[in-house]
Amino acid sequence: MRIDLHSHSRASDGTQPPGEVVALAAEAGLDVLGLTDHDSAAGWAEATAAADRAGIVVVPGIEISTKHEGAGVHLLAYLPDPSHPALVAELELVLAGRSGRLAGMLTQLRDAGVDIDESEVMRQVGEAKAIGRPHIADVLVAKGYAADRGGAFTAWLDWGRPGYVTRYASDTRAMVRIVTAAGGAAVVAHPWGRGSRRVLDLPTLASLQADGLVGIEVDHQDHSGADREALRAIGSELDLVTTGASDFHGEGKVDHELGCNLTHPAQYERLLDAATRNAKTAGAAVPAVDRP
Ligand code: AMP
Ligand code: ZN
Ligand code: FE
Ligand code: FE
Repeated sequence: MRIDLHSHSRASDGTQPPGEVVALAAEAGLDVLGLTDHDSAAGWAEATAAADRAGIVVVPGIEISTKHEGAGVHLLAYLPDPSHPALVAELELVLAGRSGRLAGMLTQLRDAGVDIDESEVMRQVGEAKAIGRPHIADVLVAKGYAADRGGAFTAWLDWGRPGYVTRYASDTRAMVRIVTAAGGAAVVAHPWGRGSRRVLDLPTLASLQADGLVGIEVDHQDHSGADREALRAIGSELDLVTTGASDFHGEGKVDHELGCNLTHPAQYERLLDAATRNAKTAGAAVPAVDRP
């Protein structure tokens, strides 16, 4: 049973439509794929329909932009009711923050001598609800300002670079509660990747768990072998679900191929149990997802 619980499509900043990501997952020999586009459930329907055709299971999720003590924390929400009012309201704020920063980023880039305009970015964004820096990166690459997405981030888009503008993110703890109340299971994505390492120690994870946090993503390309060992120990001490995933972004991210990290079936089962429990408590429809 091969289970990869974190991936992106063109519904956010991946490079393939949701149905194509699912077909690629089946080709890669996966049995279960989590589709977790940034701040939006827009890809779910297409992915679920494609999963039936491909004979694999799609677990619908959302990777939500949150912040804890000033640091960005990506929160994976599995199987929440996407129409839950508090969830809808917060995601609208996050998406508005993403759209709202674009003009400022382009102004700053223009001041730094980069000639790109909003219509070029919106062509990359296409149908996606979540406008991300990767869309701007793709324009920078197409126009020769960078060799690839990674290079565009390093030169132009990372914090401290000319194109960087901060944006709204939900409070992590508040979002853990909202996801739980929406009948979903909240899992911290790449807890010790980039910005979030300094704020996510064992006591903090324990206190988020008290608000409903179900698990932590352990096997992720942002984590060294030592990180993974330490996070797995924290997971077992706190009895958190531990997951593994590729964080696939298509051609947008090298070394994140589908299935490059996997979730153990027993951990997947616990994740589904938690979502089922939360859905029952919330009075939401219990998610119909096949079991291993
Ligand atoms: P944003 O959502 O606009 O804050 O941009 C963050 C997104 O860009 C995340 O999905 C990351 O996966 C992606 N990202 C961040 N750094 C890089 C990089 N060096 N190369 C490619 N993608 C990146
Ligand atoms: Zn992304
Ligand atoms: Fe992330
Ligand atoms: Fe991601």
